[in-house]
Amino acid sequence: ENAQLKDIISHAKEYGFVYPSSEIYDGLQAVYDYGAYGVELKNNLKRLWWETMTRVQENIVGIDAAIFMHPTTWKASGHVDSFNDPMIDNKDSKKRYRADVLVEEHAATFERAGDIEKANSLTGALARLLEAEDLAGVRDLIVNEGIKCPISGTSNWTDVRQFNLMFSTQVGSVAEDASTIYLRPETAQGIFVNFLNVQKTARMKVPFGIAQIGKAFRNEIVARQFIFRMREFEQMEMQFFVRPGTELDWYQKWAETRMKWHLALGTPAAKLRKHDHEKLAHYANAAMDIEFEFPFGFKEVEGIHSRTDFDLKSHQEYSKKKQQYFDPEINQNYIPYVIETSIGADRLFLLTLCNAYTEEKSEEKSRTYLKFHPAIAPVKAAILPLTKKDGLPEKAQEIVDLLKYDFNIIYEDAASIGKRYARQDLIGTPFCIAVDHQTLEDNTVTIRHRDSTEQERVAISELHGRIAEATSF
Ligand code: ATP
Repeated sequence: ENAQLKDIISHAKEYGFVYPSSEIYDGLQAVYDYGAYGVELKNNLKRLWWETMTRVQENIVGIDAAIFMHPTTWKASGHVDSFNDPMIDNKDSKKRYRADVLVEEHAATFERAGDIEKANSLTGALARLLEAEDLAGVRDLIVNEGIKCPISGTSNWTDVRQFNLMFSTQVGSVAEDASTIYLRPETAQGIFVNFLNVQKTARMKVPFGIAQIGKAFRNEIVARQFIFRMREFEQMEMQFFVRPGTELDWYQKWAETRMKWHLALGTPAAKLRKHDHEKLAHYANAAMDIEFEFPFGFKEVEGIHSRTDFDLKSHQEYSKKKQQYFDPEINQNYIPYVIETSIGADRLFLLTLCNAYTEEKSEEKSRTYLKFHPAIAPVKAAILPLTKKDGLPEKAQEIVDLLKYDFNIIYEDAASIGKRYARQDLIGTPFCIAVDHQTLEDNTVTIRHRDSTEQERVAISELHGRIAEATSF
């Protein structure tokens, strides 16, 4: 892991954003817990997504489906048969790898060395072998290229096998009655199976969308890069149902809308790019990723997929229940086509943290701070009485009471004011409000701004409006 990511991971842990799960038992790989500021940040991101996707969009409504679903759901969706990654084990280190990732990383070393032709021939060969489901061929490629295990340094590999990423468990208390069910690997299917329920009960007309935020689970073979790839994570997905033939226009529209959203959140344009898929999943007729430049390179944060009528049609076949919509404008029944936008809440969290993490070094002093957009900052303002006496704490508490019903506010009276500013910088609080002796006389306070460190004198009566304005999106 590179140095910048390491700094961000330790910052996240040290300042209450993200901890390894069950850390006292040395953690659980690819599972993480969110701390006091982490949960606020994550909730803010989810709320912002929810508001811009449902409340602002008049033709999108939300649902909250269960994590467990009827097992046939995952037959119909294709996950039982094809939600696989090819894996390979090194016999000496006993370490497990994704066979495709080993080849891709090998190709990347040629790319970095300027041998683009070799890199392309490797990724091309890999794509053809995977397409043909030729796993023995993938192993041959790894062996012939002399790709070594980074741990053991040997190329003593097992066969390549397909590994299904779904977690399964049993429902039913008696062994004979028990049946295998899965933890959902994506939230989308909860939307598809409820398509007609929602359309009828919320009285929606095509085009319309259904949005959902919820946990998803994937038994990722290689869990790396902190919260980028987790085994338990949260997705924010929206399925937009459209008339067949109009899907590619909607696909473009949603790609643009989602890109604008990322820019509005403060992500610099230079760190975002679109990546069109050349190789499409079995259900798609167009697909792209929005990629962000993480410390470990440009990687997907959000997928926009034109899923055709694949899912609804398949559910119709398996359930024998019609999944059609009657379109009164054209007097026709049809299975709608679907455009999906799908983003991981945790991956967006990591993007936000990487973007915000700022180290300023100058001759006089250096400082580290998190430059969050105020709308998503975990704490909006810290109220800081200059001293612990002369009635300043009481006055500060009055200000806390004035603001706390609308904003997440912190009160702090320990340590010097400079130290307290520095501490708020580290958790990304946009405003520090200092209460001093003058406050007792004229009801004004000092606001210190996180990014510029500039200070100004403001009346207490203005605080609510100022914070509300800065934290609106
Ligand atoms: P990747 O290629 O990175 O595995 P994917 O193409 O399988 O991702 P999708 O199935 O399209 O991802 O899922 C949509 C979104 O869900 C992704 O853009 C990502 O933000 C998030 N996501 C997927 N898998 C994980 C994971 N293991 N941990 C965290 N977020 C994830």
